[in-house]
Amino acid sequence: MAAIPEYFGSLVFDDRVMKATLSAKVYASLKKTIDEGSELDIGVANAVANAMKEWAVSKGATHYTHWFQPLTGITAEKHDSFISPSPDGGVIMEFSGKELIKGEPDASSFPSGGLRATFEARGYTAWDPTSYAFIKGKTLCIPTAFCSYGGHALDKKTPLLRSMEALNKQALRILRLFGNNTVKRVTSSVGPEQEYFLITREMYDKRPDLRFTGRTLFGAKPPKGQEMDDHYFGVIKPKVAAFMEELNEELWKLGILAKTEHNEVAPAQHELAPIYTTTNIATDHNQLTMEIMQKVAARHGLVCLLHEKPFAGVNGSGKHNNWSVSTDAGQNLLSPGETPYENAQFLLFLCAVIQAVDDYQDLLRISVATAGNDHRLGANEAPPAVVSIFLGDELNAVLEALENDTPYIGAERTQMRLGVDVLPKFNRDTTDRNRTSPFAFTGNKFEFRMLGSSNSIACANIMLNSAVAESLKQFADRLEGEKDFTAALHDLLRETIKAHKRIIFNGNGYDDSWIKEAVGKRGLLNYRTTADCMPHLLDRKNVAMLTSHGVFSEEELHSRYEIMLENYCKTIVIEANTMVDMAKTQIAPAVMSYTADVARAASAKKAFDAAIPCGYETTVVKKLSSLTDRIESSAEELENAVISLADAEDIGTKSVMIRDGVLDRMGELRLACDEAETLTAKDYWPYPTYADLLFGVK
Ligand code: ADP
Ligand code: MG
Repeated sequence: MAAIPEYFGSLVFDDRVMKATLSAKVYASLKKTIDEGSELDIGVANAVANAMKEWAVSKGATHYTHWFQPLTGITAEKHDSFISPSPDGGVIMEFSGKELIKGEPDASSFPSGGLRATFEARGYTAWDPTSYAFIKGKTLCIPTAFCSYGGHALDKKTPLLRSMEALNKQALRILRLFGNNTVKRVTSSVGPEQEYFLITREMYDKRPDLRFTGRTLFGAKPPKGQEMDDHYFGVIKPKVAAFMEELNEELWKLGILAKTEHNEVAPAQHELAPIYTTTNIATDHNQLTMEIMQKVAARHGLVCLLHEKPFAGVNGSGKHNNWSVSTDAGQNLLSPGETPYENAQFLLFLCAVIQAVDDYQDLLRISVATAGNDHRLGANEAPPAVVSIFLGDELNAVLEALENDTPYIGAERTQMRLGVDVLPKFNRDTTDRNRTSPFAFTGNKFEFRMLGSSNSIACANIMLNSAVAESLKQFADRLEGEKDFTAALHDLLRETIKAHKRIIFNGNGYDDSWIKEAVGKRGLLNYRTTADCMPHLLDRKNVAMLTSHGVFSEEELHSRYEIMLENYCKTIVIEANTMVDMAKTQIAPAVMSYTADVARAASAKKAFDAAIPCGYETTVVKKLSSLTDRIESSAEELENAVISLADAEDIGTKSVMIRDGVLDRMGELRLACDEAETLTAKDYWPYPTYADLLFGVK
């Protein structure tokens, strides 16, 4: 393999290729569109399309596709070939500006939550020039947004771009107040850390639960789990190392800045982190990363599990969304500065985030809500479903000093006068308490840790960008026109800290006492399940905020509410059906056959000599017989609970019926089956066990 710099980005139509293949005029015009969002004329589009095609064909591409992110959570593509008939009976390879800019997939089967009646099934895709085109296999992929003909967003990219625009607009207002008239653009950046499990293909194929639902629905606790902490950052096994090596190469070719990889806490769990980049691109890249992980795993006889909770009893997988805001001049607005002026600005942005997270806790919780992620957030696993911010003791002390006009007691005792004093240098807090926080300040960025491993990062960043844009808007509205800016800023920050400090929690988020305090004393929200939080997407305050910044229309929010709950319900119903099927057709028969063999063995012994004791056999037969009955009755009850869902009038009611009636019954059935697994001889058990799955990759 060539050196990395030689092939990095070799499958991307990036700035280097654009410069090399476009005329200076076309390049300048495209660059203006990319940087400033200006309109692209058709002449330029034609030239770009032609250059893209020439380049793609030279790399072996035969097709192109508008690559988009519908609300299914995965990406979608429909391939068209470049060929066009020529008069002499042959073909020429063609790709026009029109085809580049707009596509019309017959996409009637994508979820629209009622936004698009199926008779007007056609939505359209529109080129997003801010994210580079790339080649996957033999196809040129053009990142696009996906909308209905009525102009409603049917995807995740459209609102994400809108939220970035909202943040840009409000942040610029603030920077102007600080006298900065040169910055042209403010963008949010993200580095998402992706967790995943690797298991062998062979074992995966034997488990219907993994194949149909991505997680194990049964499985007794293995003799060894993660209690020894010997996997975390441990030596990477050869098979896994080979997978990671190839994964990196594939990602690098696509210009994805894969940087760090290591073993995670749970056995068979790993993590990959890229270097951060603009949110929009980070989102596209993360989608591609998840896709390529699965493809590369398949080539190595492995399966990559992206589910949030593939195994009960060991850690689930999340995705840490490291988020910051910076200017086109390269200044990170969440970085404490060197001068009093920079500090004041930093404190304003910090307070804007604090207010945003407090005011829109619900939206942040909603943005990561899926049936899979509920197993982490709502259960006894970190981070909790309660949203709070970790600042660390030092920064916290700075805010307290600011709030109370008292000296800041840090390493040395200093007064914190806004606009006069320089902030003390604080150390980056890396304590355990920090790691339990759903939303932690880590020196120059916030790490939002509630995302599930399979989530698109779009949703979380849409809400984060929008909520912070709203705080900044309120701040700008108040500060613009103030004569004494520093005094007004000081008052604003003090009031903001006072009003929103309840969201700051620097303790251990795993503690039960924290949840009591958060909910009881502080009045923070604790929406444990998707069914609990999703209706609040339509709360007036949330609709008002999101529509006022042009991120969503009211109709779009309604449709998303429907789609998210539909997803939740469908996911759990599939799980329930899979459980019933596995229990009835494989688990119960296996247990009965073992029970019968034990009983036969016992009667053979008795026939041989009635005096031979058969205590063990008797106990096993009795226990397993009663467990078989329990399996039968629990499966029956679960089946009925699913059947009764047909009575639900709407999706909200259905999701509540699932939360209250289906999930518990799934738990009951699992308990009976897992207990039976511990008593049944391994040879009879129809599935690879947890020990096989978790320790199977060599
Ligand atoms: P850890 O969280 O494990 O301590 P790092 O802080 O090095 O690791 O980075 C984790 C992720 O955060 C990486 O994807 C990294 O690129 C990203 N990151 C680092 N700085 C920033 C920043 N200013 N804005 C957004 N993401 C960042
Ligand atoms: Mg991290």
